[in-house]
Amino acid sequence: MDFLQSDFVTLTQALKNKEVSAVETAQFFLRRVESLDQQLNSFTHVNKELLTQAEELDQKISRKEAVGPLAGVIFGIKDMLCTKGMPTTAGSKMLQNFVPPYDATLVARLKKADALIIGKMNQDEFAMGSSSETSTYGPVKNPWDTTRVPGGSSGGSAAAQASRLAMGTIGTDTGGSIRQPASFCGVVGVKPTYGRVSRYGIIAYASSLDQAGPLTSNVKDAALTLEIICGQDKYDSTTSDHVVESFSQNLNADIKGKKIGVIKEFIHDIPDASIAKNFNVAVETAKDLGAEIVEVSIPLTQYAVPMYYLISASEASSNLARYDGVKYGYRTPKDQSAQLSLDEFYCFSRGEGFGAEVKRRIMLGTYALSSGYSDAFYLKACKVRRLLRQQFIDAFKKCDIIMGPVTTTPAFKLNDKVDNPLKMYLNDIFTTSTNLAGLPGMSVPFGMAQQLPIGIQLTAPHFHEQVLLNFAYALENTQPALETRKLRPHVY
Ligand code: GLN
Repeated sequence: MDFLQSDFVTLTQALKNKEVSAVETAQFFLRRVESLDQQLNSFTHVNKELLTQAEELDQKISRKEAVGPLAGVIFGIKDMLCTKGMPTTAGSKMLQNFVPPYDATLVARLKKADALIIGKMNQDEFAMGSSSETSTYGPVKNPWDTTRVPGGSSGGSAAAQASRLAMGTIGTDTGGSIRQPASFCGVVGVKPTYGRVSRYGIIAYASSLDQAGPLTSNVKDAALTLEIICGQDKYDSTTSDHVVESFSQNLNADIKGKKIGVIKEFIHDIPDASIAKNFNVAVETAKDLGAEIVEVSIPLTQYAVPMYYLISASEASSNLARYDGVKYGYRTPKDQSAQLSLDEFYCFSRGEGFGAEVKRRIMLGTYALSSGYSDAFYLKACKVRRLLRQQFIDAFKKCDIIMGPVTTTPAFKLNDKVDNPLKMYLNDIFTTSTNLAGLPGMSVPFGMAQQLPIGIQLTAPHFHEQVLLNFAYALENTQPALETRKLRPHVY
């Protein structure tokens, strides 16, 4: 069994045919984590129960009991998602000792499908960042070049996936945190429509934007994972009752006659020449496949970054108010030795528990929501956001899907932007609109830029994940496998 190449269906079949056992599969990936992850720092926790859980699955197969569609597939879960009995830190000191007594719905659904969880993936603190450098547990490295960032905030998920330390991983995407690291690490990453995937048990960052989704080595695996994790959940009232198709069965790479929109405001001034060149190749490739390219205008995308940072920081300041050392989270040890007032107690606990970027956002958000300012900032951003959503809906009257770059550059160097928040935020120019409009989006590996992998971004109308996956499948089929191109990450 070639665990490095195998897709989910091949593995589950081999398992059912007893060509391989779940224990062997788990051992293979645990060995890889042990030998390779010192170079990446992509895990915050490795599941100590994995072998026992794999053995239980093997016994189930021996007893000829029916097993789920993800039987034996090894998943890594971003540390934003609650995992019963396994630490869940959100990359923060604030939650360093938090072991949830329950699973997030998404995790429960993976387990119900008989997937195995190998551990928790490192990330930017509370998912705030684009480089995975703000984690309390140290920065994550890009497996293609360990002097570079893997992207963020789901950098651990993307890096581990690219190095095959798991067969699939889960990330969250509030402003690009699945798509951007997927692009930087050369893996597939999908952010579903807002409301498609339950957020029950996912640590809240910005509640009107947060979604979770898969990062995988190929489109088919992403489709299969989505099929399992999408769908209404009684524990999350924002989930939609929209029917969940058999995405993986319905995959269809025929895009002949379909219309691909390119956003005028994005594509004419892509700052990096290698990204622009690669995007143009993708456009030509789509034309060769019989698709028609149409230019669409979405003028409000130019305000996406300020809108996103106002809305996300405001919602974060509210969501993170619960971490006060009493109800939740890190508690200052100073309360043991001194008589602290309640205010002092909160200040020390929050001051010591949160990192600099999180504090910056809490301050920005509190200001933007404060009396006298919220109309000018938060409410204004919400109104413009509504108009942006409408501009997308109008654009989709002219095309089936929108295609564009994911990022302005390939993976940048560690420490390059971490001390310059504005530089870091501007990095999110192409990804944030999708979240603001609530649309499904993905990054599919396509070509290389400056000898680094890079993705193409696809955005579909609300609840059209199938269309998204089909276009990605078509693009993927034009790419010779990395193996054939003799290209693979440095850490592999
Ligand atoms: N980079 C963006 C931010 O820093 C997006 C993060 C995300 O999607 N979680 O907020």
